[in-house]
Amino acid sequence: MKWFKNFLHFFFPESCKICQKPLKDEEILVCGNCFKGLPFIKIYCSRCGNPLEEALIDYLLNKSISYCSYCERQKFYFDKVFIVFSYKSPISDWINEIKFGKDFVLAYKLGILLKQIMKEKLPEVDLIIPLPLSLKRLRERGFNQSFLITWGFLGKKPFDKFLHRILHTKPQAELSQKERWKNVKNAFLAKDEVKEKSILIIDDVMTTGATLNEASKALKRKGADKVYVLALARSTF
Ligand SMILES: [Zn+2]
Ligand SMILES: [Zn+2]
Repeated sequence: MKWFKNFLHFFFPESCKICQKPLKDEEILVCGNCFKGLPFIKIYCSRCGNPLEEALIDYLLNKSISYCSYCERQKFYFDKVFIVFSYKSPISDWINEIKFGKDFVLAYKLGILLKQIMKEKLPEVDLIIPLPLSLKRLRERGFNQSFLITWGFLGKKPFDKFLHRILHTKPQAELSQKERWKNVKNAFLAKDEVKEKSILIIDDVMTTGATLNEASKALKRKGADKVYVLALARSTF
């Protein structure tokens, strides 16, 4: 993909997306200074990705729990969740630029940034895939932002034939928390090839985790060994 990188350099001069300062070679999207100011998520449940209340922090630090009250109420099929940012500006603005402004380069670069931040923290897996959209939604929107982020993360086009979204469901954002779990029920189908594989699913924004959970369920039902989730950002419901 070196030609693609050169292509990007040529058409999109590399300057910090926030302060416009020229970027150094190892800096991606933002300069070192602006990077420190990004809304990194501080503490969240490593089992389900739920951002924890301040009051819980002490408890967590002392007892090192790997579940929260949300996990206790809800069965999750994924094994572990990794999240980088809170869904706050500028991350939330950038995700909107991708979704509504079709800024594909931004999605790709966020994928590279995600890799740079997380590469030491993620478990070894056999397969890294984006969370799929339904065919209908893909046609309406023309692209899957998670696919583009995963493309940047991998540095190559992701293989996305092992997990399909077979049901076209209402956008989760229009629904209440309870309705979201019902809405995506059995929306995914995985291929037999995922058997005994460890898989990482990449998504842009995780909210209740309902959609990612259904995707994980489909993978586990076909015998996937481990399913991990990596979300760029977590928004609170
Ligand atoms: Zn900057
Ligand atoms: Zn939890």
